[in-house]
Amino acid sequence: MAGPAAPPAAASVHLSLGEVHALASRCLVANGCDAVNAGAVADTIAAAERDICLSHGLFRLPGYVASLRSGKVNGSARPQVEDLAPGVVRVDGKGGFAPLALQAGREPLMGKARSQGIAALALNDIHHFAALWPEVEALAEQGLCAFAFTAAFPYVVAAGGRRPIYGTNPMAFAWPRPGRDPLVFDQASSALARGEIMIAAREGHEVPPGTGIDADGNATTDPKAILDGGAQLPFGGYKGASIALMIELLVGALIGDKFSFEALAADNGDGGPPKGGELMLAIDPARFGDPEGFATHAELLFAQITAEEGVRLPADRRRRNRATTATAGVAVDAALHARILDLAGG
Ligand code: NDP
Repeated sequence: MAGPAAPPAAASVHLSLGEVHALASRCLVANGCDAVNAGAVADTIAAAERDICLSHGLFRLPGYVASLRSGKVNGSARPQVEDLAPGVVRVDGKGGFAPLALQAGREPLMGKARSQGIAALALNDIHHFAALWPEVEALAEQGLCAFAFTAAFPYVVAAGGRRPIYGTNPMAFAWPRPGRDPLVFDQASSALARGEIMIAAREGHEVPPGTGIDADGNATTDPKAILDGGAQLPFGGYKGASIALMIELLVGALIGDKFSFEALAADNGDGGPPKGGELMLAIDPARFGDPEGFATHAELLFAQITAEEGVRLPADRRRRNRATTATAGVAVDAALHARILDLAGG
């Protein structure tokens, strides 16, 4: 799997997290986003920079801007919450970016999970261009287990295939740890997230073997060959492909939104996020078989896992980064920073 994004190799500009947020928000507003939507998107961008998940931080801002400029995304969307069943809530994102729709759905989802034991949130007509960990982590910080799934554009081949059919389809899971940071994993169904391949192409370094194939179907480590007419490979061969398939069904057929290939057919090619949906599931451990002991029991497992040298739990890297960047700020690629200033009008 992908490691953390390579640190900026070229010149960089130092920004505090507050400056990252303000810059992202200003740039979005300058390009037609209203303040509420801009603030919600800037929250996810600043969170990604804070945790040093560079492929979903400021790196994504030009794509968000492209979709505002092209009119694909509604920068003034007001998501609408709808109760579908005792355990199902839907948010119609009204063609906006995902973060505000996620905010609107969070409380209803948590309320239903607490009263029913388990609940689902279906987000429709959104544009997701971020990592999934922020939404599951927020639920685990409130004591719930959480899952999230979304699709993308067709970038990944089916097992044995050469034609991209699945999105890089990420899924995330979070487990609450009372008094501690939640356990969270968030992973693409592709061997490498597309953002990492784009960063490798930008910085001129190779990607690991098994990442993708070129336009002729040959295995390659050249990120440009994968992006330019080639395709990505699922992680773990047919096993990752089946997870990508499951996610297509959950966020396409189940909730009545787009498969990755349908998102591509509906897209205007502006380089921004795909139009589509997201499914979240929330589970209240207090409603299952070990409400008193589940957390202590889980810690037993975590202690066994981390007792081995060199082994860590998912999310530890992000949390460590977070502890540093909160005071030290972040280094932003200078060329990217200049481009964002330009997009923001100076
Ligand atoms: P990675 O392969 O970098 O990491 C996947 C998960 O594995 C992370 O939770 C990571 O935790 C964990 N991990 C990594 N190394 C270890 C280790 N040695 N021990 C334990 N856990 C480990 O992520 P991907 O490249 O697969 O995905 C990157 C991001 O791209 C995701 O956030 C995903 O949501 C996003 N994405 C978004 C899409 C969209 O359309 N919105 C599409 C596709 C991907 P840690 O963070 O602590 O390293």
